[in-house]
Amino acid sequence: MDQIPVEQLKGVGPRISERLQRLGILTLQDLLFHLPLRYQDRTRLRPLADLVIHEEVLVEGEVVDAQIAQGRRRSLKIRIEDGRGALLLRFFYFTRAQVEAMRPGRRLRCFGEVRQGPQMLEMVHPELQSLERPAGQPDGLASGSAIDPTTGIEAAPKLDQATGSATAREAVPAADPAADPAPGVEASSTAGRLTPIYPATEGLQQTSLRALTDQALDRLQHDPAALKDWIPTSLTAPLQLPALADALLLLHRPPADAGAELTTALLERSHPAFQRLAFDEMLAHQLALRRLRRARTAQRAPLLRGDRSLRERLRAQLPFLLTGAQQRVLDEIAADLEQPRPMMRLLLGDVGSGKTVVAAMAALQVLEAGHQVALMAPTELLSEQHLQSLQQWLEPLQIELAWLSGRHSGSERALILERIADGQARVVVGTHALFQAEVRFAELGLVIIDEQHRFGVHQRLSLREKGERDGAIPHQLIMTATPIPRSLAMSVYGDLDLSEIDELPPGRKPIKTVALPDSRRDEVIERVQVGCRDGRQAYWVCTLVEESDALQAQAAEDAAADLRERLPGLRIGLVHGRIKAQERAPVMAAFKAGELDLLVATTVIEVGVDVPNASLMIIENPERLGLAQLHQLRGRVGRGSIDSVCLLLYHPPLTRAARERLDILRREASGFRIAEADLRMRSAGEVLGTRQAGAIQFRLADPMRDTALALAARHAADRLLADWPEHVEPLIRRWLGRRDDYGHV
Ligand code: ADP
Ligand code: MG
Repeated sequence: MDQIPVEQLKGVGPRISERLQRLGILTLQDLLFHLPLRYQDRTRLRPLADLVIHEEVLVEGEVVDAQIAQGRRRSLKIRIEDGRGALLLRFFYFTRAQVEAMRPGRRLRCFGEVRQGPQMLEMVHPELQSLERPAGQPDGLASGSAIDPTTGIEAAPKLDQATGSATAREAVPAADPAADPAPGVEASSTAGRLTPIYPATEGLQQTSLRALTDQALDRLQHDPAALKDWIPTSLTAPLQLPALADALLLLHRPPADAGAELTTALLERSHPAFQRLAFDEMLAHQLALRRLRRARTAQRAPLLRGDRSLRERLRAQLPFLLTGAQQRVLDEIAADLEQPRPMMRLLLGDVGSGKTVVAAMAALQVLEAGHQVALMAPTELLSEQHLQSLQQWLEPLQIELAWLSGRHSGSERALILERIADGQARVVVGTHALFQAEVRFAELGLVIIDEQHRFGVHQRLSLREKGERDGAIPHQLIMTATPIPRSLAMSVYGDLDLSEIDELPPGRKPIKTVALPDSRRDEVIERVQVGCRDGRQAYWVCTLVEESDALQAQAAEDAAADLRERLPGLRIGLVHGRIKAQERAPVMAAFKAGELDLLVATTVIEVGVDVPNASLMIIENPERLGLAQLHQLRGRVGRGSIDSVCLLLYHPPLTRAARERLDILRREASGFRIAEADLRMRSAGEVLGTRQAGAIQFRLADPMRDTALALAARHAADRLLADWPEHVEPLIRRWLGRRDDYGHV
């Protein structure tokens, strides 16, 4: 099957073929391994009282009210109830006849995604089905997509006509208001079965993908041997994993009569068929990582021994002693730098564990050996902070630093670039601006990346190429506070070596964390006033759901204006992503110097900011953030010797998950335990973030959820390499064939 091009399938013309290619699908094998991302569960009715935001569910209810809302955008609002709960259906495209058809008492079945509306939970343009049709009266409601009563699958349009109106990764015609403009009511019943939802692309819809996989599955069913299973049953059987072909058939087409148990297992991805493919995927990645590691040890890097002179001078000048963990990690790094092979080390350390000083010490070793160092932070603000820390430590040692920010321009910028290129600047601090082609180093020996989850793999690689000289590439140290268990880190960062700072500097006081509803905002403001009058400093953090800089900035502006009015006695500063670096720097400096009492900020201060005297933090709408992010934010206080308090000012009502998150944060101080709790609630992909550099992007597997399986895959990799070495390459190709992140080493 890995040799048969998809063009052999019915309905694949040049256009479809090009779109399949975009998904990495060239052969029948690719198509078979293009597995559903998830399933729509149309098999079970969800009571309206049990709706959860963002879930796609099937519900039933009786129309109580239908009206046209005139607001900013005209919409038809239909309220349905089922005796225990209520839901609002909202349509932006509708006709008069349709409005009239929505008489109170009419029973509807709807499928769609639950969202939080302004007043209550809503579904926007759900798929509708009328449960009783008044005799002799036609519906008057046209439907956008016809659902085949026998399969529950939307009738497939002819493939080459299947032009997509969908913009997202998933193209579900009925969920798209443009594709299904009317509140169409289906006369037929949606048969109870799980509908697979595939990763799709513009112009290639679910229906097409289903029609194509149907054909490939058909061939597989007739000739299972055509798809070679590269993993011997002696490795899969002890794990009670099914045969490959059976697993594929089941995942693509769950049986129509799937019982509740199977349905749940598939939706939760705990089904053996799913586990089988997750295992294969993790195994393929393990093998690829080992190959990568082998290739890396064959590369050359500058040998950076150093005479310890600079390191000893910094150590003598520090106002504290390094912790045992910091020292151990430094020894590990030092040993790596003395090898002629590139270091690729991941430094794990909770917020406040003191990673910056470790970075500084490592940098000094490189400087001693006559090379330059680049330190990269994910935001301007953080790069400024690093610059300040390093200035404080390195300038007394007469070391020249350069700060390259995206905001430097013209002659100023040219001058900085020149100093980097001729080697005058020994340590260069910046953001991804350091990746730009015009930035050239004289003798780059080490790249340090802080909070690396904001950087992409490609950026990481391009900075390495930058430092390449005479075939030698710079060493790399990647620092992160993303709290992940070590065993997991081994599975997801198989090509990196790990160091861990598992000890906080002494004298840290735990942070008292309290959650309060925003109805008590006045009290909280009062508390800020009292605290600041006593000489404390405070952060006021504004959050927003949207990833929009502008909106977030606006929220912070509003909060600052409000607080300035209500706390006239306090000196209040404001920082957010829309304020220029030159204007932000003095505000941060003033806050650090104690010249401001209160700093209103967006989540830009999430990582790295270090003001030991700040001991009070208010987080508005903490329910919008994940646990890891909240923990990072909270880590901005509790850095000095004063007792610190974090107030979580939430907006009720909280979802159950949000309540649980805030609860965990109240109870737990350790990043590690918070991470574990986070794991129980979320998947690895979510915890690590989708753009985590260096971390593997799994399609199906989730080593945090499938820890045991991840371990088994590591052992299986040993066995395969030893006993079936000829199976290694085809297995890697099957899963990662066209991915380029393993291509360059
Ligand atoms: P993070 O690991 O979150 O980046 P930082 O490097 O910002 O942590 O360190 C947090 C604070 O702890 C800083 O003020 C730093 O100077 C201080 N610090 C670092 N190491 C020690 C130590 N061994 N003893 C006391 N304070 C330390
Ligand atoms: Mg830091």
